[in-house]
Amino acid sequence: MTIPFLDLKSPYLELKDDLDTAYRKVMESGYHIMGHELEAFEAEFAAYCGTEHAVGVGNGLEALHLILRALDLGPGDEVLVPTNTYIASWLAITHTGARPVPVEPDPATNNMDPARVEAAITPRTKAILAVHLYGQTADIDPILAVARRHNLKVIEDSAQAHGARYHGRRAGSLGDAAGFSFYPGKNLGACGDGGAVTTNDPELARRVKVLRNYGSHVKYHNESLGFNSRLDELQAALLRVKLAKLDDWNERRRKLARRYLEKLAGMPGLVLPSVPKWADPVWHLFVVRHPRREQLQKKLAEAGVGTLIHYPVPPHLQPAYAALGYKRGNFPISEELADQVLSLPMGPHLSEADQDRVVAEVRRALE
Ligand SMILES: *Cc1c(COP(=O)(O)O)cnc(C)c1O
Repeated sequence: MTIPFLDLKSPYLELKDDLDTAYRKVMESGYHIMGHELEAFEAEFAAYCGTEHAVGVGNGLEALHLILRALDLGPGDEVLVPTNTYIASWLAITHTGARPVPVEPDPATNNMDPARVEAAITPRTKAILAVHLYGQTADIDPILAVARRHNLKVIEDSAQAHGARYHGRRAGSLGDAAGFSFYPGKNLGACGDGGAVTTNDPELARRVKVLRNYGSHVKYHNESLGFNSRLDELQAALLRVKLAKLDDWNERRRKLARRYLEKLAGMPGLVLPSVPKWADPVWHLFVVRHPRREQLQKKLAEAGVGTLIHYPVPPHLQPAYAALGYKRGNFPISEELADQVLSLPMGPHLSEADQDRVVAEVRRALE
């Protein structure tokens, strides 16, 4: 591809001196797990999100899983989750033994439709896992209102939304707790796997800290059946360097998104992302829709433009979830999205010249 979907080398080149210094500092310290870099990153990330606590963990899936464990969810419980999401949102629920109960999105935002939440609640429902997909927060206030009425916890899957705002408040601070991923391609990406939990609840933060480290707070004393899911010193040190740059890089994404929205407007059959008044997205992905998506993707590939599909098969139709017994037609909004969405190149290191070429190739493919 002459224009790759995502450029992961340029972020390193831009921050090379600082990242190399951070790397050397950790290597020379000889300290690699649960040390100063992790503590410092946790404090800085909590401050960034506007929460009291941040707890570094092994990855985004584990961040969500450990929150649900810390809330004592398990077999017999139900958790509402969007049909239109990455499978990790569902797996985090399944791994506790609880059951994911799918809720369709609002097709205007691609996120969980608050108007559909109440109908999915049963006496077994314990929590709602809302996902801020593609970098735009879910419409969380009406979801919180329903949750409060039914005494449910609200968890944010913020894996695609580092820095996004809802009515001015940052993703990660909107519900009872949030899970972040620092997978390399995310807006805040490590150089390997990483994740974090943010919350204002001190007891929840303490429980996640215990669960990530073998159920132990004091070494070799185990209070619960824990896991090994820690954010290592090297990743924490590199993430500290990148966190300082996050707002700047998100701003570059916003600028590119504005240009896409302007230049792609009115192309035949093409549906562009819409931004509600309350949203300030960070454009993890720029996702368009087209009824003949496969053809468009193929033509762009032939022109050297890399695109991806987020996501081609919704979780309820994955073989992994065959046991839940869903079939095609159960969640038609998500199924149509899965057939039509296409993610165009997006990232802080996409040049405007390259973006103009993407736009020109989309126009050529459609007109
Ligand atoms: C990336 C992602 C996750 C999982 O994060 P990992 O760090 O890869 O485990 C969860 N939910 C969503 C929406 C994601 O995009």
